[in-house]
Amino acid sequence: MIKKLPFKLLLLLVVISTLLLLIISLLPDGSNQSTKTITLEANLQIVDMDDLDKSISFIAPLQKAEAAPIEDETRQTTISTIPNKTTELADLPIPDNLKKKEITYLHEQETVSAGDSLSTILAKHGVSATDIYRVSQADKKENDLLKMRPGQTLEFEIQESTKELQKLTLVKSKLEKIEFTREDKTFNSTRITREPDLVQTYKESIINNSLFVDGLKSGIDQRLLIEMANIFGWDIDFALDIRKGDTFSILYEEKYLDGEQIGLGNILAAQFINNGRMYQAIRYATNSGSSYYTPDGLAMRKAFLRTPVEFTRISSKFNPNRIHPLFKTSRPHRGVDYAASSGTPVKSAGDGKVSFAGKQNGYGNVVIIDHGKGYTTLYAHLRSFARGTRKGARVKQGKTIAYVGQTGWATGPHLHYEFRINGVHKNPVTVKLPNDDPMPKKDLKKYLPYSKKITSMLEGYHSMEYQEKLANIRN
Ligand SMILES: [Zn+2]
Repeated sequence: MIKKLPFKLLLLLVVISTLLLLIISLLPDGSNQSTKTITLEANLQIVDMDDLDKSISFIAPLQKAEAAPIEDETRQTTISTIPNKTTELADLPIPDNLKKKEITYLHEQETVSAGDSLSTILAKHGVSATDIYRVSQADKKENDLLKMRPGQTLEFEIQESTKELQKLTLVKSKLEKIEFTREDKTFNSTRITREPDLVQTYKESIINNSLFVDGLKSGIDQRLLIEMANIFGWDIDFALDIRKGDTFSILYEEKYLDGEQIGLGNILAAQFINNGRMYQAIRYATNSGSSYYTPDGLAMRKAFLRTPVEFTRISSKFNPNRIHPLFKTSRPHRGVDYAASSGTPVKSAGDGKVSFAGKQNGYGNVVIIDHGKGYTTLYAHLRSFARGTRKGARVKQGKTIAYVGQTGWATGPHLHYEFRINGVHKNPVTVKLPNDDPMPKKDLKKYLPYSKKITSMLEGYHSMEYQEKLANIRN
């Protein structure tokens, strides 16, 4: 029977059966259909619709059912896509100019690292030099992008196909961001700021070990402890004066944003009971800025630093009847010697005017500063002078004026420091330092009622134990 069949017919049969097998193998069987559908889906985006319709018409129902969810999946890799009307794709004829007109925007963000600049970050994402230039022009006034710091975030929106920059956002902090939005060939910048909610918080602590150990144990942030030590540092030497049992309390602000704590504000008021004496400071703003005052309106800050140098130890005390170590004769020591390594910065103890900077016999290199109202300070045995330290120069409290050395009659590197009032030498370690300028009278009128209010607020929070400590001092 087979033998009788013509060769051409036999060939046709073979071709038909091969095609059938091929079609059967293409039909879904559950186990491998997803792989095939993805292949078809990938084709869908490239192949011309008419060709596609013809080539897949016999399995069209399967195609439609499977394609939609996968189309969605691919779209999720970008955050926004201009709608491309997938559902109509198969039903309506699409004009050539609209085919593949899908505009996709990539939303990306990058955390700024050390050494990054706007252009390195944007160029990495394919943004053109022209767009980088355009956006930097919009930043010309404020220079926020130029001054961006490691840890800040850049968010950008780029058109996927053209790499055209649509929008750039510099997130400076949770409270501040700047948006640069494309407007044809330029960018507009908008600064968006938020104000945190300030919540008044009270904490107190008793010192058994140290200010920091016990302060941290009481849940007080280290930054607040340092700030408090600075506020009271004019009256209390935190390295030497702290006693077991000293107690302190602070009223401060915590910053909240959307119910989440994002930082700390200022200390509004603080009390410190040191060795049986109570000190209190209140923050208050006047025209010349915010500062801390006693409840009566005296500045907490003093007109002079107690010590004008970071020292290791006092190597020679103020002593009007001393025998000099080099000359073995009675020579009063009219200052105090602070041992410090050569080159340690020496600071001006207060605001004033340099009245001498040069060499003077036993003093070696020496600086004398006139602070007005009869106060002068002297700094001797200096290795060298800081730039700008010359006769007549004005200096501010804390400014570096020179460096520790051992010029003149000195046995080792140290700062010899003298403090004179109306020409009379005083012991720099114990002299009563004058307060900084008091609050102006017109401010004081408003301050005093505020001072009363905040003090009673602070005291309202005190624990029983704290109240007892306070009562013992007052009696
Ligand atoms: Zn000395």
